Amino acid sequence: MSTGNKIAAFYVTDKGRLLAERIRNLYPGVKVIKFSTSAVKGAWDEYKSFIFIMAVGIVVRTVAPLIKDKKSDPAVIVLDENGKYAISLLSGHLGGANERAGEIADFLGGEAVITTASNVNGLTSIDLWARDNDLVIEDWKLLPHIGTRLINKGVLNVYADVEVTLPGEFLNVTDPASADLIITHMKSLSAREGFYLRPKNLVVGIGCNRGTSAEEIEAAVRKALDEHNLSFLSVRSVATIHIKADEPGIRMFCERYSFDVLSFRPEELNGVAGVARSEAAFRATGAKAVAEPSALLATGAEKLLIPKQKIGNVTVAAAEIKKGVREVEKKELRTPGKIYVVGTGPGNVAHITPYAQKAIRESDIIVGYGIYVELIRDLVKDKEVFSTGMTQEIDRCKKAVELSLRGKTVSVISGGDPGIYAMAGLVFELLRQQNGDAPLPAVEVIPGISALNACAAKLGAPLMHDFASISLSDRLTPWDLIEKRLDAAAVADFVIVLYNPKSKGRTEQISKAREIILRHRDPATPVGIVKGAMREKEVIIITDLRSMLDHEIDMQTTVVIGNSNTLVWNNVMITPRGYEKKKQYKQ
Ligand code: SAH
Repeated sequence: MSTGNKIAAFYVTDKGRLLAERIRNLYPGVKVIKFSTSAVKGAWDEYKSFIFIMAVGIVVRTVAPLIKDKKSDPAVIVLDENGKYAISLLSGHLGGANERAGEIADFLGGEAVITTASNVNGLTSIDLWARDNDLVIEDWKLLPHIGTRLINKGVLNVYADVEVTLPGEFLNVTDPASADLIITHMKSLSAREGFYLRPKNLVVGIGCNRGTSAEEIEAAVRKALDEHNLSFLSVRSVATIHIKADEPGIRMFCERYSFDVLSFRPEELNGVAGVARSEAAFRATGAKAVAEPSALLATGAEKLLIPKQKIGNVTVAAAEIKKGVREVEKKELRTPGKIYVVGTGPGNVAHITPYAQKAIRESDIIVGYGIYVELIRDLVKDKEVFSTGMTQEIDRCKKAVELSLRGKTVSVISGGDPGIYAMAGLVFELLRQQNGDAPLPAVEVIPGISALNACAAKLGAPLMHDFASISLSDRLTPWDLIEKRLDAAAVADFVIVLYNPKSKGRTEQISKAREIILRHRDPATPVGIVKGAMREKEVIIITDLRSMLDHEIDMQTTVVIGNSNTLVWNNVMITPRGYEKKKQYKQ
């Protein structure tokens, strides 16, 4: 998911193939391929990660002629046939091989072999740190030298003229000439060659005549930046007037460099004070000027870094995105992250799908309610966890939405299935209420085993025929509506699953529900009561409508009430599938 999900797994022997098939449970989309040099060659440009189940020697010889550089090479992981070791061979950091090797080793119960020096020494890996802080490495060739310097000295001198949080081993210096690493959008800050990281904090305002080519626009932007000692790598987006947002040259230029295009209406542009007015622009567009005010509007800056430059058919201006100003514009400039709403099943890691486990592993932050997070403790042990009490679902979901809008990948944890009396709906509701046209995070709901599945399994087969599920919690639903549904389900002879039957503060609902059902059903109707299904102190009781209240029922309990055909045989509850065959089951 996060590191690109096209994965190929190559095997040599049958045993290797079986291991590759097992890995499919971890990475469902993995393509399993019989190894040959030409098969690897053919797949090289298509896949982001390569898993080889064979000797490292074969792998080294095969991939050697194919590799280019650490920026573009895929992740290569080598596994022995027993799955004991997962070796991160190539592209450990940016390509994600270290992470994948860790995931595979976790999944197979083996060990990851990681040799990248920064990991081994517990030091920051510069390329990953740069990526996470939205900084672009200017010259990859210099990276190994700087990395080695960090490992040898244990620290690096860093000059930064933008706001950024430095890890402990990066020492802040005020003179760029003494820095190992320079973080700035200024093209050059010291006479000697430096290792530059570029913050993506410039917006270029562009106006142009119709039909201007992408090449001419790019040349003009580069010239203007050069003349003002600004780095092209720091450009984050292009701002212009609405009607120019679809100008083919601007589009193509922006696509080539993955720049966002931010566009404004003439009234918005005309509202910006103190910009030079162009008669030509006004006649053509209704805006007094385009390049300067759009750059200012897009960044929230008060000053321009590049005042309007007219270069051929193109007008260029630029400004810096200020941190902490103009929330709305800033929001538009961010790429939102992702929200997984993950169902973790009834309460045991073994009952969480591998896909859900993978989503949790790939998340930056876990949002969930104490007990559920506690139940999956082993999965989230090195994650940042945001947790609140049970009744604060809204706060939790708000937090998840907020974090995802800041670009984070967040897992919202729900017990059971996230779409059944749980968090999925809430997440969508909150996103629906986000105003403005700001891009929204992607949301993926990952199903889990709901209490009704878990409890039915524990009771035997009570849900073989039509059933209705009713929550007795009147916290969000009026009680008379709950009564109406209980009555309707009882009349229609549905098997009835009761969620949230009773809590410390709500003790009467379960007996009222029983009375309503008894109006239409025999007191001898089988009833299953399951407490803490698939948890440590699970309790399973099979009783009937008459005596059901003699047993303990609480918030960890689900109650299943049979229909008129449900029977008990050999300590299991069975609702026959076909009515006419009922006798077959009788003792
Ligand atoms: N999303 C959850 C339901 C949340 S409502 C799901 O799909 O299962 C909470 C209610 O679910 C509890 O009051 C209880 O009725 C039921 N429940 C959740 N986990 C349970 C378990 N392990 N055993 C029995 N009932 C459970």
